[in-house]
Amino acid sequence: MKLIILDRDGVINFDSDQFIKTTEEWLPIPGSLEAIARLNQAGYRVAVATNQSGIGRGLFDMPTLNAIHDKMHKACAQVGAHIDAIFFCPHTNDAQCNCRKPKSGMLEEIAERYGMSLQGVPAVGDSLRDLEAATRLSAKPYLVLTGKGKKTQDKGGLPEGTLVYPDLATVAATLI
Ligand SMILES: [Mg+2]
Ligand SMILES: [Zn+2]
Repeated sequence: MKLIILDRDGVINFDSDQFIKTTEEWLPIPGSLEAIARLNQAGYRVAVATNQSGIGRGLFDMPTLNAIHDKMHKACAQVGAHIDAIFFCPHTNDAQCNCRKPKSGMLEEIAERYGMSLQGVPAVGDSLRDLEAATRLSAKPYLVLTGKGKKTQDKGGLPEGTLVYPDLATVAATLI
C-alpha cells in the first residue's frame, strides 16, 4: 500500500497566523486538491496530520473543526480527491502531549492505523516541526514553499535528506 502524509495548513489550504478558525477561512491552495486526486489515482492513500492548538487555546471548538474538515472533504470530493483520515492534535505547547508536532504521536497513530512502517513514506509539510516529526519515524520529509514554507527554508536547519518543492502539486507530480 502506498501512503502519503500531509500537513493541512500551508500545504492543502492557505495558512494564517491568526489560525483557521471558521469554515470561511479554510480556502484550498490552487492545485492542492487536484494533486490529492492524482495521488489517489496513482494508488496513494492520503492521511492528514495537523496541529490544531487553536482548540486548546479556545479559539474554536470541536464542532467547528469538524465543520472545517467536512468542508475540506466536500471540496476534495468535487475534484475526485479523497482524504482517507485526519489526525489532529488539539493541544497547546504547554500540554506537553505526545501528538503535537514535532513530536511523533500522530505519525505513530497513522502507522498503527495502516499497520505499516512509515519508513520512506513521504510526509509533506511547510514547517520544520512537520519535517522533524517525519524523520523521527524515518518518513521522507518534503518541504513545500507554500504557507510558512519559504520562511522555513530561509531559517535553514532542515533535516538531512529533506526534499524541497514549490507546492503539493509539484510533490505529487514527482511521486506519480
Ligand atoms: Mg502547516
Ligand atoms: Zn497533542
